Amino acid sequence: MTERLDLEQVLAAFEKKGYTARYFADGQAAADYLDAAIDGQTVGFGDSRTLYDMEIYARLRRHNRVVDPMHPEDDRGFFEIIPDTQGTAVFLSSVNAASVNGELVNIDATGNRVAGTVFGHERVYFVFSVNKLCPDLASAVWRARNVAAPQNAKRKGYKTPCAVKGDRCYDCQSPERICNALVIHLHSMKRTHAEVLLLGEELGF
Ligand code: SF4
Repeated sequence: MTERLDLEQVLAAFEKKGYTARYFADGQAAADYLDAAIDGQTVGFGDSRTLYDMEIYARLRRHNRVVDPMHPEDDRGFFEIIPDTQGTAVFLSSVNAASVNGELVNIDATGNRVAGTVFGHERVYFVFSVNKLCPDLASAVWRARNVAAPQNAKRKGYKTPCAVKGDRCYDCQSPERICNALVIHLHSMKRTHAEVLLLGEELGF
């Protein structure tokens, strides 16, 4: 009961900040929802392990025009694909951390992911697991920098000190550094319909 009440409070906190907030027990249920809600649209992805694990790309592309840097469909590389993710009607992203008060935190290397969540789309969906929830904004920023970013660097096979040592951020000057912009969403953006989809299943980093 306590867990349920806490969850309701978290969803209410996001609603208070202008998001439509929904809870799903697992990624499959959230994928079902997105598959039904997004039809006949142009869709851009911020590269996201959570969305990748949900296998939502293959479903959406059956009835939408979808661009995902994690699913290249031609010979183009990541940097050639990411401009096409901007300016689409819909943008999908995860977050690196969130506070139970309704703040969202994302770190980015090239800016395509954070740019897409801030401007240029009619609808934005933030999809993330409950394990990314933190007690306040300070701890959410700490998680993004010291947990999510090192794990993402390791996933990419980079030789940054965080990936090699695996314990925290070293604020490195590595050429493979992935932490160049940190965006905090204090509230939903003006003139964008934004939804928060919270997953009970732990996906992503
Ligand atoms: S700044 Fe460097 S050390 Fe810190 S998390 Fe980012 S890539 Fe890792």
